[in-house]
This record gives sequence, C-alpha cells and structure tokens, in this order.
Amino acid sequence: MNRSRNIRSVLPRELEDLLLRNGHPAYRVRQILHWLYARRVDTWEAMRNLPESVLRILRENYEIRPSCTAAGQAIRAEDESWKWLWQLADGDYVESVLISAHPGRTGEVARRKTLCVSTQVGCAYGCVFCASGLDGFKRNLTADEIVGQVLAAETQLLAPDSENRSERRIQNLVFMGMGEPLANYDNLLPALTILNADWGGGIGARRITISTCGLVPGIRRLVQEPHQFRLAISLHGPTDEIRERIMPVNRRYPLKDLIEACDEYVSGTGRLITLEYILIANVNDDPALIRPLGQIALRLRAKVNLIPYNRVKGLDWRRPPENRQERFVRELEALGVSATLRREKGHDIDAACGQLRRFVKRSAHPVSTNAAP
Ligand code: SAH
Repeated sequence: MNRSRNIRSVLPRELEDLLLRNGHPAYRVRQILHWLYARRVDTWEAMRNLPESVLRILRENYEIRPSCTAAGQAIRAEDESWKWLWQLADGDYVESVLISAHPGRTGEVARRKTLCVSTQVGCAYGCVFCASGLDGFKRNLTADEIVGQVLAAETQLLAPDSENRSERRIQNLVFMGMGEPLANYDNLLPALTILNADWGGGIGARRITISTCGLVPGIRRLVQEPHQFRLAISLHGPTDEIRERIMPVNRRYPLKDLIEACDEYVSGTGRLITLEYILIANVNDDPALIRPLGQIALRLRAKVNLIPYNRVKGLDWRRPPENRQERFVRELEALGVSATLRREKGHDIDAACGQLRRFVKRSAHPVSTNAAP
C-alpha cells in the first residue's frame, strides 16, 4: 500500500515551497492551514476559497482524511475522565484518555482538560508493569495520527450540532499514552509543532508534556529544540537494581547516564523536569528508597509525581496501601523535595496506557458504548 502523506503531517514551510514552486502565492498556505486546523474540514472540496489549480497540487501530493476514527463511543469514568479507542487507517488501534483537571461536581462542567496522547502502536521497551508493551511493538504513529487524536477528541467534545468547529476544548497534552514518544522523535516533533502553533492546535508549549522511560539520546536532542515543551521522566526506581528489574531500558541507559542527560536538559534549557514514580507494592515502595529518590530529585531540582499503580488485567502487580503511599510524600517533603501523590484518575475505565486496546484486541465484542460527552 503506497499512500501519500496525510496533509496534517506537513509543516507550513513544505506547503509554501510546494506552492511557490508551482507559481502560487505564499498566502495560500495560511488559507490551507485555516481549513485544516480552524475549520477542520476533511475534504479538499470544502476549501472553498482555493482555486482548482491549488487544490489539484494538494490532491496530487497529499491525502486529506481523518487520521483517527472513534471505534465505538467514548468510555466515561466516574471522575469525568474519558477514554477513546481510535482506529487508524490501517486498522490498528490506539487510545487517548481525557482527564479533567477540576472534576466538576454533579452537573458542573469541568474547566481544564488534559488529553493523554499515544505516540506508537504498542511499545518496544517492555516495562514489566505496563500494558502497552505486553504485545510488543507494532509501529510508530505518523505525525497526523498524533495530531489526529487531539483533533478527534475535540470534535467528540463538541455538541453534535455545534457549528463552531474551531472552539478549543483541550488545554493540556501529556504524551503518556501508548508508546515511547522519544523513540518516535521524527514524527513527534512535527506533531508537537502543529499542536503548539497558533495556526494549529494553539496549545501552549508549557502545557505540553513529553514523558519518557529514559531514552538518553532523545533527551539530549530535546535540549536543542527551541520549544518550551515540558519533560517528565518515568523513573520508577532510584537505584539501577530496582530500575533494571522493572524497566529493561535501564540496561541500555543506566541511571548515571540518565541523570547526566537530565542535568544537561535542566542546565541547557533552564526548564525543570518532573520525575514520575509509580508506587508498586513490594517492588519499589520500600521506605528505604525514599532517601535515594529524594537525592535524585534534589540534584535535578525536580518535582516528584507519585502515582499509585493501576492494576492491569493479566499482571500481578498491585499498589501499596494508602499509608505507605502517603509515607513517600511525607518523607520526600521532609527532605525538601516537592512531591505530589496523584489523585486517582480514570481507574474504573482502565486508564493506564494500553489497557483498552488490549481489551478490544482480545475480545470478540466491540467496545462498550456508554453515553457520549
Ligand atoms: N513511554 C513513556 C510514556 C508512556 S507511559 C514513558 O515511559 O514515560 C506513561 C506513564 O504511565 C509512564 O510513567 C508509565 O510508567 C506509567 N504507567 C504504565 N503503566 C502503568 C500502570 N499500570 N499504572 C500506573 N502507571 C503506569
């Protein structure tokens, strides 16, 4: 199958080169971007102010179609989280989870919304606790498939009869869905550029967080980028021994190298990072680990996000009891580390990465169809 590229993977500079080479004025690019990201049309014909000669060039070079279509309706959690399973053009599935920052009380509309976005189909890194890697790695998402999750989620959040397709519903993005974002750097960066641009998604760079299991070369590449994207490191263990047991990537990039790259990131960009630490009972929740964890955080001036483990069907890992979770926050704070215990989001909809896709792949039945937003 030799598809042409989806136009929502393409940056304006390339469009401009193409149009100029064919004798068309550069301002056509602005018009095209407006149709793609403000009006969000999915056919060439809908771009009504473009002459046929321009449309012909676009048609010859690109495809226009939604990159993600909802497979069933969104699944809704009690806490106002939403989860979508998207089907891609080749039949693969990825998922996005929408988290409301201030879960509204009954009947109240929650304000800030964060979408958790996937970057790959499957994952190659095999963290032992994570559902995404259980079936291995399938492929990288293209830039338009990354952008498409956000556009499709926003469309789903609009009332079905809404005329105003350009209204923005999602204010924050976290790349904590399926896959390892920094292993798909060459598609991730154009997608982030589109999602961040005023003409595109309009989501501020400081409201976009890239999460990595610790790919040192990718972290170093990020230091060179002009954008102000945020970086989160999935640490999950403060010693090589613990990290290696649960995250095979630590063999390739041991803690010393990872921390050095983080140091370079912090000094090179002037931006602080967040350390993610899932708490898994009897694996990384020994209070003796609080001090080494705190030392890493203090050295990097990083905030620590503690996340009680979300159970994954088929895996035996569990979260520690609440008093043990709270001891981590308390004692980290006593060391002078800024730490938060993440409030539960989406636990009842299997919001941990990769879980919904696995459920659908394994089940003969379609996704359950709860009410739409
Ligand atoms: N590959 C990237 C991003 C995807 S995972 C990374 O590793 O950061 C996003 C976060 O969810 C990671 O911190 C990951 O370790 C965590 N995670 C995976 N499975 C989880 C589970 N069952 N419960 C809680 N967090 C989980």
